[in-house]
Amino acid sequence: MSSGSDRLHTILHIDMDAFFASVEQRVNPALRGKPIAVCGANARTVVLTASYEARAHGVKTGMTVPEARAICRNLIVVPGDHTRYTDVSRRLLAIYQDYTPLVEVFSVDEAFLDITASLILFGSGEAIAAALKHRIRREMGLSASVGIAPNKILSKLGSGLEKPDGLVRIELRDIPMLLEDLPVKELCGIGPNLERALAEMGIRTCGGTGKGKHGTTGRPLWDHRPLSENHGARTGRPPRRPDRE
Ligand SMILES: [Mg+2]
Repeated sequence: MSSGSDRLHTILHIDMDAFFASVEQRVNPALRGKPIAVCGANARTVVLTASYEARAHGVKTGMTVPEARAICRNLIVVPGDHTRYTDVSRRLLAIYQDYTPLVEVFSVDEAFLDITASLILFGSGEAIAAALKHRIRREMGLSASVGIAPNKILSKLGSGLEKPDGLVRIELRDIPMLLEDLPVKELCGIGPNLERALAEMGIRTCGGTGKGKHGTTGRPLWDHRPLSENHGARTGRPPRRPDRE
């Protein structure tokens, strides 16, 4: 996928909601509507994915099973079946490829789709996103959240803003409001080491990356800021932290 700015691209990021847990609930109807945690196979396992019913009790990815059970006494622990998840992922890819050949599989439950050239066939980005969500639900019994944006990093941010079952478009004019105060670690690709390095440069928010000459990441973000002069012309969407699952 090109990141060239000579023309705007339309990129979708599709992120399956609570993927492992949702697949298990799909396969085993007895688990539906129940707080479940999909875990690894060994005894010292941690929660890989919790169902939304378990999240309502505070169960989170990365907790140990005893920690999760302590806050959710009726938690059902399900060993993960990666063959099953890979198979679902492969079938999802086949659905995506009905809309564009430009699919970048990002993880077992996430993919980027460049639908720029598909718009003329299928209509708007929203129409394609809605069609994909509908097919994923009908054919796979699963729910997905989709971000639509001019580039991958913003589309990934968008898919996390209204989970589960979200559909969010981020346009260039939304960038100042969305990014100004967003901690840099919320952006895909900024892990603990880069976060620390940026903090040492005094940069803690995405807005901060543009306030100096901060290399290949900060400069392009800053270059999108001419529209930030419209600080008053906000979209009415309050700043939110993205959900990464
Ligand atoms: Mg996910």
